[in-house]
Amino acid sequence: MKVIPLGTSSGKPTLRRSVSALAVAREAEWLLFDCGEGTQTQVVRAGLSPSRLTAVFITHLHGDHFNGVAGLLSTMGMDRRTRDLILAGPAGIREYLEVLQRLRVVFVTYPLELKELNSLTSPSAVYETLQYTVTAAGLDHRLFALGYRIDERPRPGRFDVDRARDLGVPEGPLWGRLQAGEEVRLDNGRLIRSPDVLGSPRPGKSVAYCLDTRPCANSVKLAQGVDLLIHEATFTDEFAVEARQYGHSTAAQAARTALDAGAKRLVITHFSTRFADLSPLLEEARAIFPDTILAQDLMEIEV
Ligand SMILES: [Zn+2]
Ligand SMILES: [Zn+2]
Repeated sequence: MKVIPLGTSSGKPTLRRSVSALAVAREAEWLLFDCGEGTQTQVVRAGLSPSRLTAVFITHLHGDHFNGVAGLLSTMGMDRRTRDLILAGPAGIREYLEVLQRLRVVFVTYPLELKELNSLTSPSAVYETLQYTVTAAGLDHRLFALGYRIDERPRPGRFDVDRARDLGVPEGPLWGRLQAGEEVRLDNGRLIRSPDVLGSPRPGKSVAYCLDTRPCANSVKLAQGVDLLIHEATFTDEFAVEARQYGHSTAAQAARTALDAGAKRLVITHFSTRFADLSPLLEEARAIFPDTILAQDLMEIEV
């Protein structure tokens, strides 16, 4: 998986930072988490193709996370998308889209599967494919907000070509069956089992996305043992009172969540425009959770 922050500014865009959006790119598809205004431009800059977008997950209905949805959906209609699209987020997105479609502001000409998510007091699976699961849980913001987590399923171990040859398995369909976990019998009567030629299963990777929240138990649950946690850090601890008041986290609080959850790496994002220099946020987080980086628009993070 590759994680690409498309917007890292809180509330409004700056010349260097767009508002919240983040792409998680997998083999032939990508998922979008939040879609602030201007996300379409960032998608083009990141070299992502809207036709390969599978699903959009919105955290909450504040404009800096949501105002780009109408434009993105319309562009995909204009591009004659035929593939279906999942759009998940808090209750309200259906009504919003219905109004815009009635007013002919938005044209959706492809199958759009809306998933309105309510309360979710503990992490629950909201979207599953053969390759991964997306889980969501309610966080603690000024209005209902969701955090998300994506877990890839474990992949089979690597096929050991030399070992297969040594065991006398001829190249061809038998290799495929062994890779699929079956056992095969050779012409000489010898039985070969899948584990004889496959390495141990490779664990899937996981990413959690906790934006616009005060520190809360569900953030820690969503981030449990995750390979990469993307967490908001709107302020430094100096502004802890404002953070609490506006339903946000400080960099230190984001770091503590990563630490409590046993996350492997932390990316902080959603920076208040009051900080021209972000190094105090990074220092504050690293003092608690050393493996922290600052999100930059369009950077690519390999997971
Ligand atoms: Zn926000
Ligand atoms: Zn918000």
